[in-house]
Amino acid sequence: MEMNKPVIRAGRCRLSKIGASRRPPPARVRVAVRLRPFVDTTAGTSDPPCVRGMDSCSLEIANWRNHQETLKYQFDAFYGERSTQQDIYTGSVQPILRHLLEGQNASVLAYGPTGAGKTHTMLGSPEQPGVIPRALMDLLQLTREEGTEGRPWALSVTMSYLEIYQEKVLDLLDPASGDLVIREDCRGNILIPGLTQKPITSFADFERHFLPASRNRTVGATRLNQRSSRSHAVLLVKVKPQTGVDQRERLTPFRQREGKLYLIDLAGSEDNRRTGNKGLRLKESGAINTSLFVLGKVVDALNQGLPRVPYRDSKLTRLLQDSLGGSAHSILIANIAPERRFYLDTVSALNFAARSKEVINRPFTNESLQPPGED
Ligand code: ADP
Ligand code: MG
Repeated sequence: MEMNKPVIRAGRCRLSKIGASRRPPPARVRVAVRLRPFVDTTAGTSDPPCVRGMDSCSLEIANWRNHQETLKYQFDAFYGERSTQQDIYTGSVQPILRHLLEGQNASVLAYGPTGAGKTHTMLGSPEQPGVIPRALMDLLQLTREEGTEGRPWALSVTMSYLEIYQEKVLDLLDPASGDLVIREDCRGNILIPGLTQKPITSFADFERHFLPASRNRTVGATRLNQRSSRSHAVLLVKVKPQTGVDQRERLTPFRQREGKLYLIDLAGSEDNRRTGNKGLRLKESGAINTSLFVLGKVVDALNQGLPRVPYRDSKLTRLLQDSLGGSAHSILIANIAPERRFYLDTVSALNFAARSKEVINRPFTNESLQPPGED
């Protein structure tokens, strides 16, 4: 078995108190929005879009409460419907990867309603690979370069893949294992004892573990979407110096640290009151909304510099405690769709993600926009 079980040893943590007092102030979570093109053939492409880009950081959306106004939102980046997988990757993800080699953590989260393009953004297709395959390719390449450029250290890469479903943490590389426990060591590192870690040295290695595991994901059918994702899919990639004794002596303290990268395809953010969910599905929806709700509060707290960040209020945010905010580099990509039936979910996704919003006094289109869901 290639399973690595992290061991917590109290004796190794003498420096933690000093480290804790030197913790850097919480870092902001960068927020990008990606608008996908029309793909809904049933809606008819003659429908005017209800959202459009203004520049590389802002967009506007119709205000159905007042047709003389539009709502303008501003983000760190806005990617319009013609943007490519390459644009998103080089613009918002690639720049953070080098920090992993310096022992810092990073996270990339795809947010948005089901059908708005989260999986396309993160995973993509063989023709249009998304963030996950691109980041893995580059990281493997970067670690190879680090190892060959005459530097004394060699880096190894491992992957874990888990799912958070109804506030349970499930190992997708070992589906037989039950709900896993999230722990924090005395240095503030978050770990999951018992979570499978597979060493990977090539992209083929990665696919060999990742592709079968993806099929283990829990997917339920709802009225809103036949394959609506009800869980958060969390890919964890660790980059660490190989721990030969000779090597460890030559590493600077900084170099001894491992860097963690979380690549997360979040559960759909749609309002479940409108999906006709009942019974089990309603319970699932509640769990999903709790996790996303807490994620929203955590991002808010980090971005406003609030003293208390409520990481512990959900499994997802507890897991991300050392990789979202702090010294970590994090980006939330909110995916939105142009079709009118997404309108309310789009507004709520934008409100979740927005740094600023302003009302502009100009009509969006001359046609009236009925509140979606009421037709
Ligand atoms: P989600 O994971 O948020 O539910 P998907 O990624 O499955 O959404 O996207 C829904 C559909 O839209 C898929 O058929 C996907 O291929 C397509 N799609 C999403 N984003 C784009 C895009 N930027 N360009 C082209 N097609 C897209
Ligand atoms: Mg999806």
